[in-house]
Amino acid sequence: MRTPSGYVSDTEMVRLIRGAQELGIHLDDKHMVLFRIYYDALVEWNERFNLTAITDFEGVQIRHFLDSLSCLPALPHRDIQGGARLIDVGTGAGFPGIPLKIVCPDLSLTLLEATQKKIGFLEHVVGTMGLRGVTFVNRRAEEWGQDAEGRERYDWAVARAVAELPTLAEYLLPLARVGGKVLAQKGENGPAEVHAAERAIHLLGGRVSRLVPVTIHGLAESRYIVVIDKVAATPEKYPRRPGMPAKRPLG
Ligand code: SAM
Repeated sequence: MRTPSGYVSDTEMVRLIRGAQELGIHLDDKHMVLFRIYYDALVEWNERFNLTAITDFEGVQIRHFLDSLSCLPALPHRDIQGGARLIDVGTGAGFPGIPLKIVCPDLSLTLLEATQKKIGFLEHVVGTMGLRGVTFVNRRAEEWGQDAEGRERYDWAVARAVAELPTLAEYLLPLARVGGKVLAQKGENGPAEVHAAERAIHLLGGRVSRLVPVTIHGLAESRYIVVIDKVAATPEKYPRRPGMPAKRPLG
């Protein structure tokens, strides 16, 4: 299987293939070519812009690709195949949104990122991979949540490594439609963060529905997926102006 920079072998991508299998995901040749193109672009652009501290192929397969794919078991098949609208907030170099889009091409994906240069990378890599149905938003979550084009427009609002849950809830819940869901990828503090964010989540129209421990092939640390149902409209005053959710988290 040929990519712009060489051949993809099963041996090279064994971490990803095995790890995905453990998550119940079958990766075919087409997926592997796309992941390889993604890796090559990430490393190339990382020489000019600081996109990631992890650059070795095995590390990227585990800590970026697989960790992103670990959201998938929480997403129902009907949403994945039915073209659900999913927004990845503070996506950085595209995690978890792009790996999810690679394996679920029917998703309608929005990548929201405050930093312009990262949007430049995302446009480049999505274009190179030929992925369709991806929208780029170079705004802060607090602004997009108050914009009619973004507010309560998404079936799923997801994020990884952006903020602690009381702050993150104020970024994500205004973007999810009533009846939609929020998904936050969390580390070992997941249960404590959920506890600390309960009041904020309620105030913003959410209700915690699941806290799922996740095991990732090759990763010793504990990981959690937090799923929150959007059960009521978010009051108009949220999200507050940029910076406020982080400066004074709802509590
Ligand atoms: N989600 C990616 C990942 O897991 O690799 C990136 C994580 S990085 C630590 C956090 C990213 O969120 C940065 O790219 C930052 O610019 C972006 N970010 C932080 N706060 C944001 C906000 N309020 N609105 C939009 N983007 C934000």
